[in-house]
Amino acid sequence: MEKMYDYIVIGGGIVGVSTAWQLQSRFPDKSILLIEKESGFSHHQTGHNSGVIHAGVYYAPGSLKAEFCKAGVAATTEFCAKHRIPVENCGKLLVATTQQEVERMQALYERCQHNGLDVELIDEQELKRREPNIVGLGAIAVSTTSIVSYRQVTEKMAEEFIDAGGSIQLNTEVTKLVESELKVSITGQRNGEAIHFDGQFLVVCSGLMADRLTRMMGIETDFQIVPYRGEYYRLPEKYNNIVNHLIYPIPDPDLPFLGVHLTRMIDGSVTVGPNAVQGWKREGYGKINFNLRDVLDMISFAGFWKVSAKHLKTGLIETKNSWWKPGYLKLVNKYCPQIKLEDLEPYPAGIRAQAVLKDGTLVHDFLFAESARSLHVCNAPSPAATSAIPIGGYICDKIADKLGLQADTDVSQVA
Ligand SMILES: Cc1cc2nc3c(=O)[nH]c(=O)nc-3n(C[C@H](O)[C@H](O)[C@H](O)COP(=O)(O)OP(=O)(O)OC[C@H]3O[C@@H](n4cnc5c(N)ncnc54)[C@H](O)[C@@H]3O)c2cc1C
Repeated sequence: MEKMYDYIVIGGGIVGVSTAWQLQSRFPDKSILLIEKESGFSHHQTGHNSGVIHAGVYYAPGSLKAEFCKAGVAATTEFCAKHRIPVENCGKLLVATTQQEVERMQALYERCQHNGLDVELIDEQELKRREPNIVGLGAIAVSTTSIVSYRQVTEKMAEEFIDAGGSIQLNTEVTKLVESELKVSITGQRNGEAIHFDGQFLVVCSGLMADRLTRMMGIETDFQIVPYRGEYYRLPEKYNNIVNHLIYPIPDPDLPFLGVHLTRMIDGSVTVGPNAVQGWKREGYGKINFNLRDVLDMISFAGFWKVSAKHLKTGLIETKNSWWKPGYLKLVNKYCPQIKLEDLEPYPAGIRAQAVLKDGTLVHDFLFAESARSLHVCNAPSPAATSAIPIGGYICDKIADKLGLQADTDVSQVA
């Protein structure tokens, strides 16, 4: 007979691991299993990102993103301090380089104030003083932005989960989910063999596979995950101190992507990127990776065509710049003219899991779906790494509500 777990969490990215760890901390008497198809944690989005603890600049006031990101800054910083994980509070400058961007910068500044962030508008001279290698007409200075390694954060959460009594099954790809009145039955594949688990409640945090696992559970969805590649370059070591802050452009408010930025990484290097181009394989990181199932799913989905048509011009420019390095360089030279073509050294890409609705709407906010015995994280793009602790906390609350549970531990003690 299969062991019946109280809760099962699918997904060894930061959202799944944070959720499993917090569930085990809050409900120490429950048996909790975390299932991941790769041989370790953070193999996908969590291990291929910019490593920024976002302050919450961009997000619509009242949205889950605005709320969780703000709470996530405090929770992540506290978690890292407690576990001696390096964090650098370098701050960030959003630099306007054209008159149109100056207008957008003003609107963004007001949004920051609505979101209760500690930000400052600085003029051209002050920008030059703070960042001698950056040019622009002005900038928003955000003091609370920091950098970290989300791989390291996730590893530590996994350790905490195990120490609190949690179980982990790696190399196990979930292929079938069946919900009945009393349980959820999970079938997986490990080394070509079928493996089964039963749980009273299931949480799915499967990133780029979110739509597939939600449908696998029999939940009707009107969204699909569309993969957008984010391609980076790394600057040579001599440029490790080219900037003092993270340098971002003023983003296009219609797009959920932030624009190619200069990011100081926690290992001391500086990356340029990421751009946003169409991915043809959800979990394929090479430039010309292609997966037939992923492509067929995409081209048979009306939302893909609608969103692509809506952003056709941007998409074509991004694709051109992806293949033509001087075009990519131009995006950085707008605010950092001294970087040359030969300074753009290879660096691994990431792939964003972006939920798109049938009508072509890009889902900006975090999105969840549920059935009687399951909860699915359907859209957790940036800043979900920053927000992973509040997202996990939110899921714990939802489960407690659904199952009528009392937490054994004070939530505030968890981080
Ligand atoms: C280029 C890029 C830059 C970013 N920069 C930032 C940033 O600076 N700051 C920030 O806060 N956020 C950033 N993000 C967003 C952030 O990385 C993600 O929002 C976050 O990592 C999502 O975590 P996750 O756990 O939901 O997904 P993932 O990390 O993708 O994890 C999902 C896991 O589910 C597993 N899985 C899927 N299907 C199955 C199955 N059938 N069976 C078993 N396991 C399965 C996968 O193997 C994977 O390990 C960035 C993202 C990208 C791509």
